[in-house]
Amino acid sequence: MMATDRDFDVIIIGAGAAGLSAALFTTREQLKTLLIERMTFGGQIANAEMIENYPGLTERIRGIDLAVNMLDQTKPYGLHTAFTEVEALQVEARPFVVSTAMGSYTGKVVILACGSSLKRLGVPGESAFEGRGVSYCATCDGDLFHNLEVGVIGGGDSAMDEALYLAELASKVTVVHRSDRLRATQVLQERALAHPKIAWRWHALVEDIEGEAQVERLRLKDVRTGEASLLPVAGVFIYVGLRPNTDFLQGVLPLDAGGHVLVNQRLETEIPGLYAAGDLRQYSARQVISAAGDGATAAFFASQQLRHAG
Ligand code: NAP
Repeated sequence: MMATDRDFDVIIIGAGAAGLSAALFTTREQLKTLLIERMTFGGQIANAEMIENYPGLTERIRGIDLAVNMLDQTKPYGLHTAFTEVEALQVEARPFVVSTAMGSYTGKVVILACGSSLKRLGVPGESAFEGRGVSYCATCDGDLFHNLEVGVIGGGDSAMDEALYLAELASKVTVVHRSDRLRATQVLQERALAHPKIAWRWHALVEDIEGEAQVERLRLKDVRTGEASLLPVAGVFIYVGLRPNTDFLQGVLPLDAGGHVLVNQRLETEIPGLYAAGDLRQYSARQVISAAGDGATAAFFASQQLRHAG
């Protein structure tokens, strides 16, 4: 069969740190590579205000700038890109067929690097007030809350990072956490705990997000006593974890209970030639450096496989 402009050696699905890193390695191997992305480059790092734990980058860097740098680095090597949503992946025969809203592409190998999305809290008012005080992106929406009081929900790295960012804009940030043990990296915890504009509501769950046209308050419940209270805020930023973007893989290959893709040490799934890198794979550390490392690893073994096959 003659190769067309829709036939590729490698198709990478997702242009976050894992996908961009994989693309750098496969294009440098001069493998014809297509990178498919449904939104914008960068994945989760595009929303990160600053990244300060990427080894070798001694200056803090904006997440979006790191993503742009990663993309720019692939440019000399002829990466193909398509901005479209992947609808289905056919793995029964080789090459694999990736169906998108822009038509189908074939890949001799496919690297899944679709990353993760922020989980929703799932409480009344969350959907109704989205864009009217409920946000999942402090760097996008923080400016709307200059000198106003906001809430941040969660006790992980995302919640601490974004609380610290918001504390530079808002008059007060209250972190609402369901226990009194933060999950975040120690250095972030200490920074947030020491910040004079960050207040804390420990052992508290959000039961309801309330207001008229905009968010006006959170209805909280103390998980120990059941006592209800109101927290007046103009906005609420929700960071209660990540879920892998693997819905389209249901029934295609085995996923764990959390929806993560199972891989071996080469980051290959049980289907030869189908790899998974970054947040969507089981046991990912979900750090930008580990996602980038995963992309390089999957690309390395995928390239080896293609060389040996060819
Ligand atoms: P995470 O680490 O999974 O933390 C989620 C937080 O939300 C936890 O504190 C959890 O409480 C809380 N939570 C979960 N469900 C909840 C619910 N229904 N109601 C109230 N609270 C709830 O998520 P993340 O902070 O988004 O981080 C995800 C991954 O990205 C992590 O591996 C993290 O290290 C990484 N990351 C790293 C950085 C960085 O290095 N600067 C920045 C952002 C993210 P419990 O603790 O009680 O479970």
